[in-house]
Amino acid sequence: MGRAVPTLAAEVARVVAAGNCSGCGACVQLDRGLEMQLDPAGRSRPVPVQLSTRRPPAGDVVAAFDRSCPGRRVDAQAPEGSVRHDLLGPVVAAWEAWATDPDVRHAGSSGGVLTALTAWLASTGQVDQVVGAQADPTDATRTVAVAVTDRAGALVAAGSRYAPVANAAHPAALDPRGAVVGKPCEVSALRALAGDTDAPLLMSFFCAGVPAQTATTDLVRSLGVGDGERVTDLRYRGRGWPGEFTAVTEQQTVRTSYDESWGRHLGPTTQWRCKLCPDGTGESADLVAGDFWHADDRGYPVFADDAGRSVLIARTRRGRELVERAVAAGVLTVGPVDLDAVVAVQPLQADRRRTLAGRLVGNALAGRPVPRYRGFGLLGRAWRSPRDTLRAARGTRARVRRESSRARS
Ligand SMILES: Cc1cc2nc3c(=O)[nH]c(=O)nc-3n(C[C@H](O)[C@H](O)[C@H](O)COP(=O)(O)OP(=O)(O)OC[C@H]3O[C@@H](n4cnc5c(N)ncnc54)[C@H](O)[C@@H]3O)c2cc1C
Ligand code: SF4
Repeated sequence: MGRAVPTLAAEVARVVAAGNCSGCGACVQLDRGLEMQLDPAGRSRPVPVQLSTRRPPAGDVVAAFDRSCPGRRVDAQAPEGSVRHDLLGPVVAAWEAWATDPDVRHAGSSGGVLTALTAWLASTGQVDQVVGAQADPTDATRTVAVAVTDRAGALVAAGSRYAPVANAAHPAALDPRGAVVGKPCEVSALRALAGDTDAPLLMSFFCAGVPAQTATTDLVRSLGVGDGERVTDLRYRGRGWPGEFTAVTEQQTVRTSYDESWGRHLGPTTQWRCKLCPDGTGESADLVAGDFWHADDRGYPVFADDAGRSVLIARTRRGRELVERAVAAGVLTVGPVDLDAVVAVQPLQADRRRTLAGRLVGNALAGRPVPRYRGFGLLGRAWRSPRDTLRAARGTRARVRRESSRARS
């Protein structure tokens, strides 16, 4: 008897069952019979909702899934003309940057650079649309992917949303005449699916991980919003740097600080796959932005309200040319940046990479499949901090075993 042909739905289910799904939505591009839905734990996950649009399931679809799903594989990038920074990945050029328009800078998460570029690219017809994320107009506690086509739409989609959303599933996310802003896992999947020549313009941001949707719902309730109250606007940050978590209903506006919302409510609920992420800095993007926090005397980031500043890294020549044109058009203001100063105020990114090999080993020892990560130098890092690696491996194995036995009982 010949071996059974793997089907896409079965492969997707295996990634989800292993806890390796990031909720990016790229698999929906391979089969519109899948849909991204929130599971009971508040995670965005692919679900078969109708008969596969791929019949019979073709081997090349499964092969495309295998090379693009971030729960299966992520490759470090080495674009032409780039030099690899040990932690931040490939760099063609880098700047400190913010939106020149003060309203856009104020609206954005840090310097408003992604919003400024989105507004400019879409409103001047340089791209057909920019896929991003915004509050769901019918229930602002939820987040949806959106295609932005003008400045007003870009301002609505400004600001980080610390909740599940699958930009890579948007129907326009692979349009070569368009652009996408997405989390690093979303852009790595899109880059792998589209290839270099047909890819849309890919923009990303530094990412610590995606919290559960339930964390937003619980936080809104804990701030005094009643069950029957409709939330009409919800911002996680922005309108200042970092700005406040703010929810607006027809009756009231409630808010809390970034420290409180991210540090105590949202951050602790980030999904498992994000703890195993090799690429929190968006290596597959043409252009990536991150918070360029000020540091205190001990070097820790200071979250005091201020005019936002981003670090902006062009990974490709396409990304560098875009920034140069945006600066010439007065859209962005840029200055030189010291990338080691950036690393100093991104402790999570540094720590996660340092102990990642240990966590992957612990996961494998507990019997779970692990994604394949190539070119990130994880073994070298593990070798340089053997104690931390061992501790991470033991801790992860114990945690995964505990979770598995809880799930069985
Ligand atoms: C889940 C998450 C984790 C983050 N972790 C870090 C971190 O570890 N370090 C750090 O420096 N910064 C982190 N950020 C913040 C991010 O780096 C800043 O948004 C970045 O500096 C860009 O700033 P900006 O002002 O240019 O962005 P803006 O101009 O505010 O533009 C933000 C863009 O991101 C899109 N977007 C918002 N939320 C999402 C989402 N959940 N999924 C996909 N697209 C989205 C918006 O549509 C918009 O296009 C995180 C953001 C998110 C959403
Ligand atoms: S990580 Fe992305 S591509 Fe892989 S199964 Fe999850 S949603 Fe689909």
